[in-house]
Amino acid sequence: MSKKSIFSRKSKREKRKKIIITSLVTILVLLLISGITYFAIDYYKSGKIFSKKQSKNIQQEIALGDKSQVQEETKTEAKKEEQIKTSLPTDVNKNSNTSIEGDKYTFSTAEVQRVNEKSTPTDGKKVVFLTFDDGPSMNNTPKILDILKANDVKATFFIMTKNFTDNPATAEVLKRELIEGHAIGNHSSSHDYKKLYPNRKANMNNIMEDFTTANNTLKSILGEGFETKVIRFPGGSMSWKELQPVKEAFAAKGISYVDWNVDSSDAKSLKRTKDEIVAEVKKEVEVNEGAKLDKITILMHDAKAKEATVQALPEIIAYLKGKGYEFRTLK
Ligand SMILES: [Zn+2]
Repeated sequence: MSKKSIFSRKSKREKRKKIIITSLVTILVLLLISGITYFAIDYYKSGKIFSKKQSKNIQQEIALGDKSQVQEETKTEAKKEEQIKTSLPTDVNKNSNTSIEGDKYTFSTAEVQRVNEKSTPTDGKKVVFLTFDDGPSMNNTPKILDILKANDVKATFFIMTKNFTDNPATAEVLKRELIEGHAIGNHSSSHDYKKLYPNRKANMNNIMEDFTTANNTLKSILGEGFETKVIRFPGGSMSWKELQPVKEAFAAKGISYVDWNVDSSDAKSLKRTKDEIVAEVKKEVEVNEGAKLDKITILMHDAKAKEATVQALPEIIAYLKGKGYEFRTLK
């Protein structure tokens, strides 16, 4: 065997060894690279999943945040609405029973009551006072307010404040009365004849207590600036015995009571029809005109059962307008 062949065999072996080693190294490197790549991908993937999850969480949190923000906004909105609802009318004419705008239509109650009691004419100017007792009611009072608004006339509402205990929503109707320029009178809290006039005799303490309760309730709805100096005795002052000391006690506080000289008769019976009410008003207005009475006070009711009054009102207003009456309110 030649040296050359030995050498070439040797180098061939060396070459094979080299190839094997190179291959092994390459495989190892490849394995390593693929391993690193795998882990890298896995890490990247897991990282991405995590970040996806995280971002999902964040999104959810944002969404929740949005939701609670929306809820918060809705709450604030509801609160605002509630505040508007429960807020007191800002346009109360201080220490009066009307709004600032409503004050323009007022007239002295004491003067009107003198006409009612003494049946004496005044200055010859035809003025009518539409008065509504026993309200507010949820069904009839808003309709009456709509009719008054459509006809651009003002009225006086004598409030029975137990209505607000029976149905707190009626407080909004009271605010509307004031805001729309009408005057507010006190018609007691209980309207309970047995309490106010036991055995038909005026009970000073009970009457004072009942009207004070009503006054406080009116203020709680319309604000401390609101102050009515106008009252109407439940049943009218002419119906009860021994009322004189009570009248004087009210007068000492600057409070005037007022009755009426036209009874629409809407409280005479539940079956009273619209036509009967209109006819009665026309009849009594004409009697007053015959006596040359220039100040007409009309008694009507806006309680829950007085639907016929609502129906009669447009005709009554048209009739009075036709006769040239000016519509004023009582202060
Ligand atoms: Zn009444």
